[in-house]
Amino acid sequence: MQTDRKIIHVDMDAFYASVEQHDNPELRGKPLAVGGGMYGVVAAASYEARKFGVRSAMPGRIAMEKCPHLIVVKPRFARYKEISQQIRKIFYEFTDLVEPLSLDEAYLDVTENKKGIESAQEIAKQIRQRIFDETGLTASAGISVNKFLAKVASDYRKPNGQKTIHPTQILEFMEELPIEKFYGIGKVTANKMHELHIFKGLHLKEKSLEELVRLFGKSGSYYYNVVRGIHNSEVKPNRIQKSVAVEETFWENLVDEESVFKQLEIISEDLHTRISKKEIKGKSLTLKIKYKDFAVYTRSKTQEVYYDNAQDFYETALKLWELRPFDKPVRLLGLSLSNLNTQEKKQISVQLKIPFEEFD
Ligand SMILES: [Mg+2]
Repeated sequence: MQTDRKIIHVDMDAFYASVEQHDNPELRGKPLAVGGGMYGVVAAASYEARKFGVRSAMPGRIAMEKCPHLIVVKPRFARYKEISQQIRKIFYEFTDLVEPLSLDEAYLDVTENKKGIESAQEIAKQIRQRIFDETGLTASAGISVNKFLAKVASDYRKPNGQKTIHPTQILEFMEELPIEKFYGIGKVTANKMHELHIFKGLHLKEKSLEELVRLFGKSGSYYYNVVRGIHNSEVKPNRIQKSVAVEETFWENLVDEESVFKQLEIISEDLHTRISKKEIKGKSLTLKIKYKDFAVYTRSKTQEVYYDNAQDFYETALKLWELRPFDKPVRLLGLSLSNLNTQEKKQISVQLKIPFEEFD
């Protein structure tokens, strides 16, 4: 178990609903759903509405049944995004290692931080205070040695609280943690585990790695590790990715078309492998050619629908190749994909777990 890192997970409390209550005082203290109504899906519920069993991702019709005097308002994404940027600015005052999960949550690696504060607990306190002072909204935080533990911890004292899981407490904490509170274990998996008499960390720990992999595939080894406090994933600063590129410089310049085609095929496959891991798609493909004399030529093609397979890349690359201005030996070939689906739309729809378009 790696225990020398200090990771904080910051999570705004009932974000969309809290923003609405903050901006419209007459909504405060009342059961409120953002999104929903008779035909939509609840995007966020205020704590008052949660008391009635209203939850995000719940069909509006059911929410109204559970809470007949529920107030339903339309989401205002521009406003949420504005606040999201405000809180990120606060994060960056402490560290550049910020990995946003959605508009309202992020991991921060504060092992080394810009303010030289030793205690991650103290940093979390200061961040939450700053968020409140600047936005009037509350956030909760979890503090521990890795992302998994920090994420689990931030849920623990919600709303407006924080929890630290110290290295010495990790194993005990994990043994007592109900299986449905594990980050990455959804309802379906939790049910399956219950059937296997796995109700908390302790029971999960009794299973061997082989057994967990047999039962849950790749996730099996993730479960095996996190219950032991092992989660080495780094905090990945999220500069919104604008493009994905694969380039190949050749040992020997390519002089015949056949070898160019062969290389473009390999690069297309590589590019596809790269993007499918990250669930990235893009609408523009650019071919880059560097000639023996270092002259660089690029040409792009943008289409209406996302490119999404290696064959698409390859065929488009061939068309772009046809447009090249020179026939000279080639020392480098590259393909890059841009106009990606990684912008804020994606972040919002992840947060809502429903299509963004529903509110348009
Ligand atoms: Mg939240």
